[in-house]
Amino acid sequence: MKEQNGFYTLKGYQKNDSADMTSAMEDYLEMICRILQQGEAVKVGELSQRLHVKPSSVTKMVQQLTNCGYLRSEKYGLICLTQKGSKVGKYLLYRHDVLFHFLCILNHSQDELEEAEKIEHFLTPATIHRLDELTKELEITRGKASAELSQKEQTNPIEKGPPP
Ligand code: ZN
Repeated sequence: MKEQNGFYTLKGYQKNDSADMTSAMEDYLEMICRILQQGEAVKVGELSQRLHVKPSSVTKMVQQLTNCGYLRSEKYGLICLTQKGSKVGKYLLYRHDVLFHFLCILNHSQDELEEAEKIEHFLTPATIHRLDELTKELEITRGKASAELSQKEQTNPIEKGPPP
């Protein structure tokens, strides 16, 4: 552990990372989990469309995820999650949602998909958990602020509108 202290390049940190998943593997597993949650069947063609990648790339990655114990293939080309895949996939979806939501609140926006997709791989579970709590606090604070504002507007209706 001591050898890991100090600065590294991003690649250096990634080399030290003991997790056996690459960012690309995470992207695929996250999408597979998302499609299944939407109640749809996962096939190579579907993944290729949703992730904007070639079917041959999907096939390669599905093989890799299968070898690592995250997926199993079934009849008719159906791609299924193993227990391990389901557990990790659920976390990846949660991680995505937390970060997406946080960025939307932070930037007063509805569309932070690209930034969330880029950053999500680099945050630890502890950070994601705290970010989730922080986002909920921010939502409450903002909710209160806007409720107070509309109450003020209601109690002082005369102040509203342009001056005569
Ligand atoms: Zn994501």
